[in-house]
Amino acid sequence: MNERTAIYVRISSDRDDRMVGVERQEQDCRELAADLGWTVTHVYVDNDTSAWRKTTVELPDGSKVRRNVRPVFEQMLTALRRGEHDGLIAYDLDRVAREPRDLENLIEIAEQFGRAIKSSTGNMQLDTDHGIYSARGEVAHANKSSRDTSRRVKRAAKQRAQEGKYHGAGAAFGYELVKDEDGKVLTLREHPEHAAMLRDAYAHLLSGGSLNSIVKRWNEEGRKTNRGNAWRSSPLKRALMTPTIIAMREYDGQLYPADWPALVSKDDWDKLRTLLSDPARTGKGFGEGPGKGKYVLSGLVRCGGCGRSMVASVYSGGRGTRGWVCAMSRTKGCTNSSRIAREPLETWVVEGALARLDTPALEPDEQVSDEHVALRATIDKDHHALRRLEDDYYDGLFDGDKTGYVRQRERITSRIASNEAQLLDAARSSVLAGIESVEQLRANWEDETVARRNAILGAVIDRIVIGPYPEGMPYTLHHRKSETAEEFADRKRAHQLAVLEARVTILWRA
Ligand SMILES: [Zn+2]
Repeated sequence: MNERTAIYVRISSDRDDRMVGVERQEQDCRELAADLGWTVTHVYVDNDTSAWRKTTVELPDGSKVRRNVRPVFEQMLTALRRGEHDGLIAYDLDRVAREPRDLENLIEIAEQFGRAIKSSTGNMQLDTDHGIYSARGEVAHANKSSRDTSRRVKRAAKQRAQEGKYHGAGAAFGYELVKDEDGKVLTLREHPEHAAMLRDAYAHLLSGGSLNSIVKRWNEEGRKTNRGNAWRSSPLKRALMTPTIIAMREYDGQLYPADWPALVSKDDWDKLRTLLSDPARTGKGFGEGPGKGKYVLSGLVRCGGCGRSMVASVYSGGRGTRGWVCAMSRTKGCTNSSRIAREPLETWVVEGALARLDTPALEPDEQVSDEHVALRATIDKDHHALRRLEDDYYDGLFDGDKTGYVRQRERITSRIASNEAQLLDAARSSVLAGIESVEQLRANWEDETVARRNAILGAVIDRIVIGPYPEGMPYTLHHRKSETAEEFADRKRAHQLAVLEARVTILWRA
């Protein structure tokens, strides 16, 4: 329908951002655009690290007021008015409209210019009266909450958080509100059906399932979010990752024990958080994007010539072989630029992986739990420090020059990356822990979902490197008159195996 859709995402220091980085925001927006059949032509990225910075601006009548200034946002509004875009998808209402004035500008554009404006989280639908009404309510509420964070209110909120008291928004998914006689909310209690759904989702994801398959199943079963919407991967992820469900309250990047029951263990929560934030997961079974991780071995197969992931493709070898292909040509710097047939490789790798899983030395270590918790705490602390640093820098409070800031930032970022990599390794072992017996796994292998098969393979295999076709080995064998059909088939299998052994190196995880 819309041919020139714009996407709007924003970087900010909000606590949610650590879970929803700009790339993820963009991906969610693109998914919605794809669902709607809209074509995305531009992505606006607002780097608004301290969201409430005000600048003095002059109004047309010459008077001066203090306002939040967001150049990228303004630029986008202008482009929408001019018709450079016919639609807008923002990640979330609170990303795009921090104050009522922002929202009113968007409503005006939707109404007067007929532009379609939506958010990927579903809380902004400016094409209906009801949508406009609820967006106004939400922004007014958010704006008030933001302004209320004066020092005094902040301190009170912190105190409530430290005491683990309920903080008055709606119940997180999995819970219902406990109220006193006057209707005042006291705390949360488990919502039996929703809590069971969340636990079920945890079990599914920790054994290598995908967010998408849960979304699909819940929607098929007619289940709804607390807002009464159909499930999508981003609200599901938020429901799974909120600290509420481990009986914690987050305040200013810190977690405080709360006075309601936990739905899942802290350990599982940590593991899932790591799995869901693994950038490589799309190809390794934790994926959620359409077309990603579609085949067994997706994301694991690398070209030996250039080191890049090989892509699934059908190449014309006369019969249209389905295979893995290096997307880099020789002229662009790949020494091999080769391809390999998918099925024989898959069979061979899976056999190797199952054999390896049969080795008792690979049984997951149950001792690592404490280590996870410590690692996760360090990562949380670093994220907190990072946001502090960014805020200070943008607010002019950083004690040093830009080089010093960049160096500090890199130091913390790389520490986070290395700790997350360690955690990810630990989380992968939980996939293996979910395997009851390798014998059974082998028997049911073909019935497992591709996502689960990839999760298991990804837990034991780091990557599969494909070398060039061995010199001197024939590409095809011809039937000899002297041999039977069976002998010919045997000879072909042996040849295939010899080629695989010569070409393919599997790098196992330790
Ligand atoms: Zn290559």
